[in-house]
Order: sequence, then structure tokens, then C-alpha cells
Amino acid sequence: MNESMSDTPATPAQDYRDTVFLPKTDFPMKAGLAAKEPAILAKWAADDLYGTLRKTRAGRERFILHDGPPYANGDIHMGHAMNKVLKDIIVRSQTLLGKDAPYVPGWDCHGLPIEWKVEEAYRAKKLNKDEVDPVLFRAECRAYAEKWVTVQRDQFKRLGVMGDWDDPYLTMKYEAEAAIVGELLAFAESGQLYRGAKPVMWSPVEKTALAEAEVEYEDIVSTQIDVAFEIVECPKMPELVGKFASIWTTTPWTIPVNQALAYGPDVNYTLLRFQGREFLVAEDLLSSFWARIDSQKDADSQIADGLSGVHMLGSVLEEAIARHPLLAKGGFFAKPRPFRAGNFVTTDAGTGLVHMAPDHGEDDFLLCKANGIEPVFAVENDGRYRADWAWMGGQGSVIAPKLNAPDGPICSDLREVGGLLAASADYKHSYPHSWRSKAKVIFRCTPQWFIPMDRSATEKPSPPSGGEGWERGSPAETSATSASSVPPLPNPSPPEGGEGLSNNPTLRGIALDAIANTRWVPAKAQNRITAMVEGRPDWVISRQRAWGVPIALYVNRKSGDYLRDPAVNARIKAAFETGGADAWFTADHQQLLGPDYAAADYEPVNDILDVWFDSGCTHVFTVEARYGQGVRANLYLEGSDQHRGWFQSSLLESCGTRGRAPYEAVLTHGFALDGQGRKMSKSQGNVVDPLKIIGESGADILRLWVASTDYFEDVRIGKEILAGTSDAYRKLRNTFRYMLGALEGFTDAEKLPVAEMPELELYVLHKLAALDAELRDATAAFEFNRYARALTDFANEDLSAFFFDIRKDSLYCDAPGDPKRRACRTVLDILFHALVRYAAPILCFTAEEVWGTRFPDAGSVHLLEWPEIEAAWANDDLRMRWELIRVLRTRLTGEIEPLRRDKIIRSSLESNVTAISYDPAEAALLRSVDFAEIGIVAQVEVVDGDAAVARDAGDSVSATDLVRFEVSKTEYEKCGRCWRHLPEVAEDGALCARCDAVVHG
Ligand SMILES: [Zn+2]
Repeated sequence: MNESMSDTPATPAQDYRDTVFLPKTDFPMKAGLAAKEPAILAKWAADDLYGTLRKTRAGRERFILHDGPPYANGDIHMGHAMNKVLKDIIVRSQTLLGKDAPYVPGWDCHGLPIEWKVEEAYRAKKLNKDEVDPVLFRAECRAYAEKWVTVQRDQFKRLGVMGDWDDPYLTMKYEAEAAIVGELLAFAESGQLYRGAKPVMWSPVEKTALAEAEVEYEDIVSTQIDVAFEIVECPKMPELVGKFASIWTTTPWTIPVNQALAYGPDVNYTLLRFQGREFLVAEDLLSSFWARIDSQKDADSQIADGLSGVHMLGSVLEEAIARHPLLAKGGFFAKPRPFRAGNFVTTDAGTGLVHMAPDHGEDDFLLCKANGIEPVFAVENDGRYRADWAWMGGQGSVIAPKLNAPDGPICSDLREVGGLLAASADYKHSYPHSWRSKAKVIFRCTPQWFIPMDRSATEKPSPPSGGEGWERGSPAETSATSASSVPPLPNPSPPEGGEGLSNNPTLRGIALDAIANTRWVPAKAQNRITAMVEGRPDWVISRQRAWGVPIALYVNRKSGDYLRDPAVNARIKAAFETGGADAWFTADHQQLLGPDYAAADYEPVNDILDVWFDSGCTHVFTVEARYGQGVRANLYLEGSDQHRGWFQSSLLESCGTRGRAPYEAVLTHGFALDGQGRKMSKSQGNVVDPLKIIGESGADILRLWVASTDYFEDVRIGKEILAGTSDAYRKLRNTFRYMLGALEGFTDAEKLPVAEMPELELYVLHKLAALDAELRDATAAFEFNRYARALTDFANEDLSAFFFDIRKDSLYCDAPGDPKRRACRTVLDILFHALVRYAAPILCFTAEEVWGTRFPDAGSVHLLEWPEIEAAWANDDLRMRWELIRVLRTRLTGEIEPLRRDKIIRSSLESNVTAISYDPAEAALLRSVDFAEIGIVAQVEVVDGDAAVARDAGDSVSATDLVRFEVSKTEYEKCGRCWRHLPEVAEDGALCARCDAVVHG
């Protein structure tokens, strides 16, 4: 920006360098952030910046950004960094606005991933977790979580994130565990809990139910089999008796628990004969079925040979009955397999007939339930068939490939009885896996605790009705003992079909209302979460694990009802407050139950809560606990995956207990991808480590990157992108450095009233007012990419390339008391105060360094408030006039450039300009200002061109195109001090009148 001053004159008549007021500052051009930032952090800690802010802002309007808890496990990654920086930018910007914006960071500490890590350590030591005292095991989980909370806390702090790091919230703190159990008991007391059976995503490896958010889909190859069920009754079409219904499945392991067959009532079926038997298949699927049964038929047989010509609609199967191929096993297998109409039956794949295992499929469960067929719970926690199951009992896990293989035990047994029509291990499909263990998950019916979505909160839970409740099916009449471990359970009442929503709202209805009353940023997120809540099933809140908050309920051993006594619940909560959740596992239950109940009559529930329930309660033990009952967070801010996770669990928790959302607004950001837009993964080797970036370039670079991205979508980060960010940072830093230098020695006494300022200064103040409005607007919209861009554009284009460029002559060479110089420095001072504040939320370290350089004793920049920009500075007439001037200036610069390139002139100061204007208005505009000063040239002569040219051009050209610049080398000599070429300079290197006056008084 200072190129014309840095050339040394070829032969100076006299050296006037010492008489020029060059900018002076100790603020270094090179940032050295990686070394500097830790010292700034230490100072903030020593000065208790966060605590000071809480004191000075007490009583002001509050803005609560409630932190979503990361999981206390492993070093932070780019997703964490992006999330926390964005939060910090918002908290700091709200603080800058003068609000009291506390930030309480938190961690999710319970749950499977930590338990899994502790178990891994056990396995390495050949220890069996099931033999360890649960309280001891939980203590190890706690220690593991604590370790990572400490590690992540230091890493988050290093990002510059300001918050209550000395007192974060942890879901495993006793007060949190007590609050979580209190919320659970609130659901229980209002009747919004039920224990039911339902197929849930189940991980046999981790031995627990999983939430959708804990599952990821991967392509796998499965065994596909076709199995024949002989039809034994068919009232609507008796000739089908003795024929075979063929079903197709990719989970052979579900055949041992088959209980029914489903057909499409409107599907067209036909019979296909081969090897002496006839098989019922949907007509649309005949050829694919024919292709699969290759090994069963003669080499030269054709499909046409087997076609029966008999056609029928599926509805003929009404009331039909088949029998299981393994009926010889007796008991469960000898029972009839009824045909039932299923609206989910399609002819996309398979045979058009679907085998139903209500234990292991949602459609199966619902269709069977509607027909009085209950699950049998044959598959245990670890994925094995229970030992007493008549077929496959005690065999290996159902997810084991060998159990399902074409030559495995299931296929072999089916083949032996003639039930297997085809089996091949070649079916490719997408299948759910546990994101933690990467093992396959299954659908499995288990007794679980649910929060109903469609039952009114005020409605009493339906009483257990013996007849409707499920009972544990038994594979053989002799194994009645297996049913004793689970008491009969109350049956969940069916959804009410939306009836009476307004008077008697359901959790789903309340949640949907709350979504509509919440501000979603970006707005499109509202549709996403609305669709999710509209379509979601009841919330399964139980997990069969140890590291979590227990579902501290007592179930009556006789009735299956859970106890709903506020006095008992109060004792449970109190026990948790003093002893944490461990209190449940070591409790004297008679003491908790009190004198009114006998402990022998009640079974304490040993399941723990889904961790999403824990984190769904953070608003209770963080926002309400710290700021008062009924206080809501102003903002939740997380990645877009949290529509399924935390945004939703918090919403449902709060709607179920408080009837409204726990937040006023929710901001969703995208994910951090690599420089090419690919997902980061260790195996790809494309992980960008935020800690490495901070170590090399500093946290402010990372923060500026976050602010500059369009974070509402997925964002990219890589070497080139960061190089661009560093470049943008450098320019901003230089802008501050220039201002610091130019303001050296500036005092209030030098200030010039705005009314006395030149038009250029007024125009810059107008631009500042416009910037201020834009930044306020961007802050309110949480659009910091707009904020960062407005700030950097202003610094680069309006200041460095324009205002600073034009005014450097006045700054360096005018007398200190010259009004123009005073006006410039006054505006620079205003700009400095504004820009350092604007930059502070994003470049939190650099702003502190800039501020401290100029005002070393004034405290932290982060204690300051939003700059006071006078509304009167906005001046639209001035804006329009100066926008035209700037266009003309840019055009003139373009005309000078070739002369510089051809070495005709060395700097623009040597330019002699003739401006030929074909438009009187433009001519008047050019004459109204010192355009030589604005263009940084020696002289400008404005000449009126032929007005007819403008008339002929009409509206086809813009006004500024009606000015033509002619540039030549000036004849004037150069002032030895200011290097301007002026008529009064007698010889090269002598002084101009202004400089002479400054130098010689
Ligand atoms: Zn001069």
C-alpha cells in the first residue's frame, strides 16, 4: 500500500526522510500466533476474563447458547473444532452486543462407547466384565470419561473458546444424574412410560438396543434362500392344498422363528411345477425365482415346461394355513403358519410371499400383533438362540456368516427336509451396523421401556390386561421355566389415531407445535425435524448396559405395573443427589420404598437410560439449574445429524415434562470435509487435524476459516483453502498494523469534529456506518461468513486500497496540525475502535494483541462493547456521489497501468491526466473534488467533450463511461520530500510549497 513511498530517489538533492511522518508501530507484520496465543490464554485465565464478564454483565439482557455435549472419548477432530469455534464466535458476538452471554461447556459421559473401551481393556487382560462388581465397573467408566474431559477441555480452550471451563456440566456429575432420574420419574408420574416388547435395533456384540443415531449402513453380501412351506388348508381355493408357498429371505436365521406368511391381496400369483411339486409365486417374480432355483431343476428344463396356467389373486389365501418345513421338531414348529394379508408385500424382489418372524421385523411384528401372534424371544442378548429352542438352540450367533451360509446348519436342515429351493451367498445390500463395534445389528424383540409418542400425557397408562399382554412363547410344551424370568408386562395402548389432539395433546402433537414455534437456522431445517418427529416411533429409552443412569423404577411383580408414588420418587432423587446413580445399584430398596411397600413385591429395574435421554435433560441441570426454573436457552447449535439426536431428544424431553421446547432457536451446521469434498477418514488418510493447524498457524487462522465458510452446508478444509485463509488473515493484520502505525501519538486533543472533515472522511464514515449495519444484521442472522466477508472487504477495498492509499500523502507529509491530517487521524481512530471490536469475536487472539498494542493498560478487548456508530454518518447522497468517483478512479488506475508496465512512468504520481468528459454532470463531479489527489497523480485537467457524443450514446452506456482518460508523463519536477510532481517544484528533489512550510515552519 506504500509502494510509492518506498522507492529511494535516484539522486536525492537532500534527504528529507527524517521529516516524513511514517507509520510507527511495534506490532509485527508476522503474526507468530502459534507461540503468541498460549500467552494470551494464560493472561485471560490469570485475569479471570470469563468471571469478570459475568460480573460486569450481570443484569443485562441474557443470551444463553446452551452447549451440546460432545462425547468424552478421544482427541477433538475438525467437526468438534468447527462446532466449538462457531459457538464461541456467537457467544463473543453477543457479548460484544453488550449482553450477558454465559457459556457452560458440557460433556456426555455415560454410554456404550466408554463402556466398550473399558471392556476392551478387560478383554485384553482376559477378565470377564460380567464378573466385576457393577459399582467398580462404573467407577472405571467414570475415570475413563474424566480423563477425556480433561484432554478435550484443554484442546477446546486452545481454540480460544471462552466459557466456564472450571465448572462445566457433565452428565455423570451427581447433580446431573439426580436431575436425569428426576426427569425420568416425571415421565413416569405423568404416565408417559410403558414397558413393552417391540423389535428394536439390537447389537448382539454389544448386547444392547441401539438408537438409529448409533447405527450406520454398509454394503454387505448375504445368503439369500428360497424356502417352501406346504399349504395345508385353503378354504377359498382348496386345490392349493398340497402345493407349496415359496418365500425368499436374506436372513436365513429368522426361519427358525417363522410364525406366519404374508401375501399381497391384490398381487397376481401363479403355480410353477418342477421336480414333481408345485410352487406358488407372484407372476411378476417368476423369472427371477426360476433363475434362483437353478440347482434344483434339470439342466434343459424351461420355465414354460412348469407353468400351470393357473392364475389367482392373493386374496384367495385368506384363512389359508401352511406348515413349517421343520414341523417334525414338534411344539412351536408343529403349530400352523397362517397366511395374512400384508400391505407391505410388493413384487419388487423375492416371491411375493413373505415369511413373518415377529421377533425380528417391524412389519412382521405389527402384522402378527394385529393377528394375535406374539413374539417368542428365542434369540438371546448375545445373538444366540436360547439353549432350549428346539431348532438351532444354543448355536452360534445369528449374525455369524457360517450359521447363515448355504452349507450352514439352517440351510442343511432345510435341505434335508426338502424345504430349501435355493441358497446362494451372493445378495448384495445395505445393512445396519453398530457404529461403535462395526458389527451387524439385528431387529430383535426385547422387553424395553418406551416413551409413547401418541398417548396423551394426562391420560393414565392402560392397565395391564392379562389377555392382551404378550407372554413368552415356548418352543416345546416342556420348557415353561423359561417364561419365569420376565413378568407379564402391561400392554402399550395403541396409537389413538390423532383423535383429540388439541384438547388432549400427545407428545408428538406438543413436539410438532414446539417445532413450529422455534426459529430454525437455516429455515429449511424445520422441514427436516418436522418430518422426523412426524414419522418417529415411540422412544425406546432403555439399554441393557451398566454405565448410565438407571431407570430407577419399581415394577410390581404381580401386576407388572410400575410404582408411581411421588414420595418414593423423592427418596430416589435424594439418594441420587448424595450418591449419584450408583445409589441405585447399592440401594437398600426397602428403605427407598418406605413403609408402605414391601421390597419383596417389587422388582427394581436394572436397565439404564439411553444416553440421548441424559443429554436430552442437559437443559434441566444446566440452563434451569443455573439460571432459574423455566428459563430457556436462546440457542442450540450443532451439526445437522443432531436433528435425529440431541435437538430431538431435548425437544421430546422438554415437551414431555414442560410442554414446550427447551430452546428458542436452533442452528444447524454441516460437516467438515477434506479439500476435495470427501468425508475425512483415517483409512483414507485425509484427516485434517485441528490441533496440527493450531500448532502450525494458530487458532485464529482456524477461527477465520470457520467464520469464512458457508457452514450451513458441508464445508471443505485443506492446504489450499487454509493458504487462502492465511492470506485473508495477513491482509486484515496489515490493516490493523497500518492503523496502529498511522495513529502513533494520536490523542483526543488532535480530534477534529466530524462537521469540519473533508468529504472523503465523511464518505469513509458513511461506509463504516453501512458496515456496522451489515455486521449487526449478520450477527442477528448468525451468518458469520457474511460478517467475515463484509469485514475483510471493508478493510481491503475501502481502507487499504482506497482511503489509506489516498490519505498516505496527508498522513506522511502534512503538518501535524493540518486539518486534513487531523481529520484523517480522527477517522482512523474511529475505524480502529470499531474494527478491533468487530474482529474480536472471530480473531479473538489477534484482536487482543492489536488492542493491547495500542492500549496496554486498558484491559481485555473482550470486555468492550459494540462500537457506537452515529446514525447520522450514513449519508446516501454522499454514497452515490463517491461511488461514481471510485468507479472513475478505478478506470483511471487502469489507464495508468500500461505506462507503468512500459516503464514510461515509475509511479502514478508521475501521471499527467486529461479527463475528457462527454457528460457535463461527470465533468462537474470531477471538478468538484481534487481528483489528482484521489487518483494519486501529478495533475488532472478536466476537458468538456462534445456533448453530442453523450446524447448519441443515450442510455446504452453508464455515466462514468462518458469520461475518457488520457495519461502522459508529467512535466513537473518531483518534490524531494513528498514525491509529488508539482508546478512549484523548481528542480528535481527540491521542496514543494507544502513541504517547505512543514520542514521550515
Ligand atoms: Zn512535497
